[in-house]
Amino acid sequence: MAILAADPVSPTHSSKSSGGPCIGVVMADRLYAGLMVDHKIVGQMLSWPEAAPPTESEGDDALVELPTDALIDTVCELILQVAQGREKEITAVGVALPGMIRNGVIEEAPNLPQLKGSRVGELLSTNLQARGITVPATIVNDADAMAAGLASTHGKLNDFVRVWTIGTGIGYGQYPFSEGVWEGGHSVVTMDEKENYCGCGGRGHLEGIMGHRSMRLRFLDMEPEEVFEAASHGNQRCNDFRHLWHRALAAATATSIHQAGAGKFYLTGYNMRFLEMNLLKDYLHQMVKMSPLQSYSLEVVNDDEATRVVGAGVAALQMTQAC
Ligand SMILES: [Zn+2]
Repeated sequence: MAILAADPVSPTHSSKSSGGPCIGVVMADRLYAGLMVDHKIVGQMLSWPEAAPPTESEGDDALVELPTDALIDTVCELILQVAQGREKEITAVGVALPGMIRNGVIEEAPNLPQLKGSRVGELLSTNLQARGITVPATIVNDADAMAAGLASTHGKLNDFVRVWTIGTGIGYGQYPFSEGVWEGGHSVVTMDEKENYCGCGGRGHLEGIMGHRSMRLRFLDMEPEEVFEAASHGNQRCNDFRHLWHRALAAATATSIHQAGAGKFYLTGYNMRFLEMNLLKDYLHQMVKMSPLQSYSLEVVNDDEATRVVGAGVAALQMTQAC
């Protein structure tokens, strides 16, 4: 567990930009939570369960196995721990989770299926209130939290930033937050009828090409690591796939550029290890030809839960202040 030491927390601290201490939480393979002041984590970021999952790509089943009520209780316990007895001072609580969230309802949550259909924000708010934290909890998509966290840690809170998270699935997040569905990982990037490996069942999707799970379905006899390794040794089928993988990301990025404009794209996730930036840029250059749209930039950044925790806190602050 990374300990992010920082300034001691001043009980009288307040600032127009941050609105006082807030709490960011991430529900991923584990729970992560941190207390934030001025968009930075102060003290120690906590996690539950405390032990690390066996491998980065396998994750942990602890959260999936908890019924919704027990999961909400566990999140609230962790929030209380990071609040460190300052429950009354907390100005915002943000919780990031993987899934499609609309009007406070979890419409889709493939990694935490027990939450589908739940009003997680309301459940958390009620539970927290009983424990002395009276601000409402804000729920945010984890990829959007990543985008907000990156905007915050890179000094881009006044800019438009987008992020692709390339892992088991493909996440798309953007900051500033705006109403919409933004399932960019399910962008259609090919008309090939044989392309049907996406976990959602849709044909021709980005995730069906780039997602870890989809790659394992496509190459039943090889792990994704072995596919990219074989590609580098000239295996034709694997090398064709290496190109398809990069073209797919270029295509989805080009579509986003054509719809929302050029700007900053961050790339993160454990399968960024397969990325060849030059290959991606070559394909993107072929796909984006209008000169006002060519000022985009791409940057690979570490996938780190602390950034998502910060983003969840930033989201909660912005939404609380907007009320
Ligand atoms: Zn899909």
